[in-house]
Amino acid sequence: MYELCVKTHFAAAHQLAMVGEKCENLHGHNWRVEVRVAGPALDEAGVLLDFGVLKKHVAAVMDDLDHKFLNELSAFSKKPPSSENIARYIADRLAALLPVDKGVRVTSVTAWESENASATYIPE
Ligand SMILES: [Zn+2]
Repeated sequence: MYELCVKTHFAAAHQLAMVGEKCENLHGHNWRVEVRVAGPALDEAGVLLDFGVLKKHVAAVMDDLDHKFLNELSAFSKKPPSSENIARYIADRLAALLPVDKGVRVTSVTAWESENASATYIPE
């Protein structure tokens, strides 16, 4: 199995209903995102997936989140835009963009909401 990792970031605002916590107030983060994809085989060029292709797909997903008030997005109408749910959203969106025929799948997405705090979603 080969695994690729791409790092990116986006800035957005969110508001979480957590009684007594600072996150109840509207605030923003500069989320750093680590996306990992894996697959069993390399192509004739010796790569699992062209980094350019992977970065293009990741950038398309970031475009939907960057400089948005996440609570207003339809993706977060039924579940709050926590770092956990943001990581899952990115994984689900990216999974739909990856080439199915090559067996490349998302193995994890980590969303860092600060230097010291991150949430990772690992698709089952
Ligand atoms: Zn927050």
